[in-house]
Amino acid sequence: MNKLKFLLQIVFVLAVSLVIFQNAEAQSRVDRILINEAERITGDDFPVYAETPKGVRVFGVNQPNSKMLNAIDQGFTDLFAVARKNKYSKRLNHSDYTIFIARADRTKDSNKQYSPDIAVPSGQYAGSVYDKGGFIYAAGMVLAYKPCAFVIAEHTKDLQRVSNVVRYEGEHLILYHNDRSRYNKTADHSTGGGHPILQ
Ligand SMILES: [Zn+2]
Repeated sequence: MNKLKFLLQIVFVLAVSLVIFQNAEAQSRVDRILINEAERITGDDFPVYAETPKGVRVFGVNQPNSKMLNAIDQGFTDLFAVARKNKYSKRLNHSDYTIFIARADRTKDSNKQYSPDIAVPSGQYAGSVYDKGGFIYAAGMVLAYKPCAFVIAEHTKDLQRVSNVVRYEGEHLILYHNDRSRYNKTADHSTGGGHPILQ
């Protein structure tokens, strides 16, 4: 009897290990796809992995400091609060999100204000006022909707701006998962309209 119990325990442990292993495998496959996409868009490498205190997954060009991680958490906390106010219920956990922190391609905007931005392919903004010749400067950009991922630029100060950018990029993802028609109306800023979308 004891022997049987022992065998069953071994089988159970093996089964659990297999599930954990398979989940880790699937996760790393998804991460590989996300990392490839982030590399393609930004031209950067993302050798560092970190998690915020609230569980946002972060890939960075450098190790983000705790102020940066807390600013990311705050942006999502603000976003989830306004999303709940709009009766949205999906993707309201910090752990639903993966953030890439890329090298800033500029640190000042055209008004000489501190504004770390990334240069990304113009895409739908080609030929618009944003187009700088095949690329645009963006504070952030959505990389994937399932799982939810976007890229922002490294900041050394003005961490409030990080929270704002996180909230703003996150709006697109929240709308995609909770209100598709509103998402469609607000996904492309080249026809006007900006952030915040959710009030
Ligand atoms: Zn936007």
